[in-house]
Amino acid sequence: MSPRLADDAALLDRVVALALQAEARGHLPIAALVALRGEVVAEGWSEVPGPPYHPGRHAEIVALSGVPVALWPRARELTVVTTLEPCLMCFGTCLLHGIGRVVYGATDTLGGAGHVLPHLPPYYADGRGVPEWIGPLDPARCDPLYHRADRAFARLPAGLPHDAPWMD
Ligand SMILES: [Zn+2]
Repeated sequence: MSPRLADDAALLDRVVALALQAEARGHLPIAALVALRGEVVAEGWSEVPGPPYHPGRHAEIVALSGVPVALWPRARELTVVTTLEPCLMCFGTCLLHGIGRVVYGATDTLGGAGHVLPHLPPYYADGRGVPEWIGPLDPARCDPLYHRADRAFARLPAGLPHDAPWMD
């Protein structure tokens, strides 16, 4: 295993543990961190349910808000690691912050931003500034987290009714 893949695997272990901690505290089981050369510089979990309820407090947003300002000039060296493929908002946030890599454990088959990667505005059309999109690296552990999070999210004001198989 290359050092980078070993780093990604270890960082995924960390976000899975964080997601389980979040779930035990009544949050959605989704967590994220930001790493520089394999070292965690910020982390967080979904705080959407609250209290107070806040539709924008996704795990990636919480983690990115904790990145020390001095590191932003090195954004291309930063990796966001998350249990669940980022949504449109979190992808946009990673893109506009210049994050170099996004690593995720489970594919968000319904809302994942991977659906829009081939359709970015012309400014990004040559891939300039677009983070590497790496995953799913750990569906065995992260798909169940995703499905439990999706069930809980559907009961929140921002949730939309849908009929994914795990919603039965
Ligand atoms: Zn998101």
